[in-house]
Amino acid sequence: MTRTFAVIGDPIDHSLSPNIHNAAFKALNLDCTYIAYKIPKGELKEGIESLRKIKISGFNVTIPHKVEVIKYLDELSEECKIIGASNTVSNENGKFIGYNTDMDGFLEPIKNRNIGISGESVLIIGAGGAARAIIAGFAKQKASKITITNRTLENAQELARFASNLGIKSESITLQETDVSKYKFIINATSVGLKGEQCPIPIKAINANHVVYDIIYMPMNTDLIQQSKKNSATIIYGYEMLLAQAALAFKIWHNLQAPYEAMKKVLLGGF
Ligand code: NDP
Repeated sequence: MTRTFAVIGDPIDHSLSPNIHNAAFKALNLDCTYIAYKIPKGELKEGIESLRKIKISGFNVTIPHKVEVIKYLDELSEECKIIGASNTVSNENGKFIGYNTDMDGFLEPIKNRNIGISGESVLIIGAGGAARAIIAGFAKQKASKITITNRTLENAQELARFASNLGIKSESITLQETDVSKYKFIINATSVGLKGEQCPIPIKAINANHVVYDIIYMPMNTDLIQQSKKNSATIIYGYEMLLAQAALAFKIWHNLQAPYEAMKKVLLGGF
C-alpha cells in the first residue's frame, strides 16, 4: 500500500518539501507520496483529525503551526520538549509522535565543515520559531554566549530567557546597537532577505574570521550572504539546513539513510 506523507502549514504552495521528499522516494524506489496540505491558522485541530482519519504515515509542520501542533500529539521527543515546537510527526501504530529536526538540521552544516562551537560567541538576528531551535542547538553544543538582536526587543528578551533556562549565557539587544565584530557566528533567523531586502543590522565589519549562516534558502544569495562573501567570511547557506532537517525527518519515517544527493539536486534545480 502506498504510504502518504505531507507538509502542513499556511502558506504552503511554495513549499519545497514535496519536491525534496518525492525525489528521495524516487531515488530509493519507495512506494510513498508526499503532498502539501494547507491548514489555515485556527483550523489545526480539524486538520490533524483528518490526517488521523486517512492514516497519514508522517508529516512536517511549518508556519504557523510548529508550536500549536504539540497540543494534538500523543508523545514528544526530548528535542520537542526542550524547544517547545515540532516540525516532524511520525505515525507510529496510530500514535502521533512529535520530533524536531530543525535543531540538528541547523547544526549539521556547521559540523560538516568541522567548525567548533564550544566556547564561541554567537549572534542571532531574529527571535521567532526558527531562532528557538537554533538557540537550543548552540546551547547543546556549549557556545559561550548567545546574543539575540531583533526588531521587537520583547521577543528577543523572551528568547534570551529561554537560552538562560537552557544554561547558556545570553543577552538581548536592539538591531541598531548590534556590533558584528564581537561574535564568531552570525546567524540570520529573520525573514528579512526573502524579498531581496538589506540585512537589518550593520554588517560592514564582517571579515574572514566570521561564520555567516543565513537560514533563508530562497534566494540562496541574500544581501547578508553577498556582502559577507565579499569580505571572505565562511558562508553557510539556508538550503543546507533545509536539506539536513529533511534528511533527518526521512530517517525518522523510513529508518533509512536519506538519498542526500538526489534531494539536493532537485532542490538546487528548483532555484
Ligand atoms: P517567525 O515568523 O517565527 O519569525 C520571523 C522573525 O523575523 C522575527 O524575529 C521577526 O521579528 C523578524 N522579522 C520579520 N520581518 C522583519 C522586518 N521587516 N524587519 C526586521 N525583522 C523582521 O519565522 P521563523 O522563525 O519560523 O522563520 C524565519 C525565517 O527562517 C523564514 O524566512 C523561514 O523561511 C526561514 N527558515 C528556514 C529554515 C531552513 O531549513 N533553512 C527552517 C525554518 C525557517 P519580530 O519579532 O519583530 O516580528
